[in-house]
Amino acid sequence: MDRALAGSPASPGIVVGPVHLLRWEVPQVRHAVVPAEQVPAELERLEAAMATTRGRLGVVRARAEAHAGPEEAAIFDVQLSILDDVELRSRIEGLIRQNLVAEKAVDLVLLEWRQMFARHAQPMLRERERDLVDLHIRLLSVLLGLADHDPVDLAPGAGAILVTHDLTPSLTVQLDRRAIAAIATDEGTRTSHVAILARSLGIPAIVGLRDATSRLRGGEHAVLDGTTGVLIVNPTPAEIHQYEQRAQRERRTAEALAREAGVEAVTTDGARVIVRANVDLPEDAEQAARSGAEGVGLFRTEFLVVGRTTMPDEEEQLRAYARVAETFAGRPVTIRTYDIGGDKLPIGGHPAEPNPFLGWRAIRMCLDEPALFKVQLRALLRAGVHGDVRVMLPLVVTLDEVRRTRELLHEAAEELAAAGVPFKRDLPLGVMIETPAAAVACDTLAGEVAFFSIGTNDLVQYTLAVDRGNANLASRFTPLHPAVLRLIARVAEVGHAHGIDVAVCGEMASEPLMAFALVGLGLRQLSVAPASVPRVKRVLRGVSAALAAEAAQAAVRATTADGAARQLRQRLRVAFSDDELATLGLPGAAAGGDPA
Ligand code: PEP
Ligand code: MG
Repeated sequence: MDRALAGSPASPGIVVGPVHLLRWEVPQVRHAVVPAEQVPAELERLEAAMATTRGRLGVVRARAEAHAGPEEAAIFDVQLSILDDVELRSRIEGLIRQNLVAEKAVDLVLLEWRQMFARHAQPMLRERERDLVDLHIRLLSVLLGLADHDPVDLAPGAGAILVTHDLTPSLTVQLDRRAIAAIATDEGTRTSHVAILARSLGIPAIVGLRDATSRLRGGEHAVLDGTTGVLIVNPTPAEIHQYEQRAQRERRTAEALAREAGVEAVTTDGARVIVRANVDLPEDAEQAARSGAEGVGLFRTEFLVVGRTTMPDEEEQLRAYARVAETFAGRPVTIRTYDIGGDKLPIGGHPAEPNPFLGWRAIRMCLDEPALFKVQLRALLRAGVHGDVRVMLPLVVTLDEVRRTRELLHEAAEELAAAGVPFKRDLPLGVMIETPAAAVACDTLAGEVAFFSIGTNDLVQYTLAVDRGNANLASRFTPLHPAVLRLIARVAEVGHAHGIDVAVCGEMASEPLMAFALVGLGLRQLSVAPASVPRVKRVLRGVSAALAAEAAQAAVRATTADGAARQLRQRLRVAFSDDELATLGLPGAAAGGDPA
């Protein structure tokens, strides 16, 4: 086996540690029967497996409660109650009494129940199928004595590199951050949500390794380099030494950058660029503030719903929004309404769709479910009392979506007023520009919104028709494609001409080379991953806006994304030495000899 597996770098940092292979899939079970005299022993095995599974679920539940709160932990109550279901148990025992081996009996009954639930007329019960899958995996893994399958097996401080096919929401809430030092997945790209979440948790990660789970066995020693996207299995002592040195250098750079995190990003010719943070979980806000973020440019509220079976109520949402608003007192906190669907989690009753990215998601879903949406809008209006809250709508395509939301905001405000609940009227309402429709027709929106925020993750996906989560297409996901650069330039120009704020909150802004390009395209507000705030500010302090503009113009004129990148790198080399570029995480820019 080739010892170096290459994927997409998803969250920077170097980790040397043992591989923890997590196969969250139903294990294969062979058909086997036992003689009559062995039936009591099989029944005992079932009993023991159920007890072990119950114990594990209890641990996971407690862990989820400690990390994510009681609401997230509640999903495990559902699994516990299914496990205790008398009917389920007697069906399994019945098959064992007919001489089936315990694991086959469990396998058959759970398959049968899953099918029954999957076809249920009630959406909430259809949703239960996922809990049954989890339980199916757990029970069989215990009965088959499969080692290394359960995130619960990891001891805090294990420093493990978690390798898994894809990180689903239900796995995410189980993870013990103290045990997992790094994440590697077969699926995903830099902009898929596992990558975004890893960055926000500050866990080094590689995604899109394609077949890591089939090539690894678990327990190997490995080096994960989240900066370059390489996973080295069974590294030699020399390789470990080399990586440890690099890790040390990266740590020193990060410390130096952290010391100047509070310094504003003003270019050498005096252009002030505001750098805010993208926040996925309310508890990330404090870290974002320490990183020097000047407010929140994107709070992804759908992460409040991840892994849950019910939507958070108004009070819970208010607590989350108020916490972030108060952390950034006096600075703008842009809260995005639910962006559920696509690669974000489905909630109860959200039907499976053939094309989820073109489907019933984000603002479309919210407007079709006004009762659900108004709970969020009321919480947002109430959070307005706690800080400078702004409301942002995802996936906007038409002006009607903005107008309809404004009506609902008005209704929500009237409801609060009638109930005598304190809230702030007239919160600034803005839109994400993340579809080609919104970008091309942004002039139709500009007159009726307070701000634009360009979501390049989706804008690139929809403009280039490249699935942002498909590892096979990662090299085709190019934010520097001329079509994307032209759309961004247009949105900045139109927005500024209308006198409204224009920001970029897609992952593109978190990469120093691209941040340089965006400033060159006229943007003065960026919202980036919290860990990238100091680095982006540092790069922008080292360049002039004039140089950035010249570079961006050359990039826009370039006929390919590679050509655009070369134009940008060439200009950055005017401002920074090769050493500085390498320190800033731009080693490619330092590798001279790029033809223009
Ligand atoms: C985007 O699409 O660029 C964006 C910031 O939103 P998300 O990544 O949450 O879809
Ligand atoms: Mg988006």
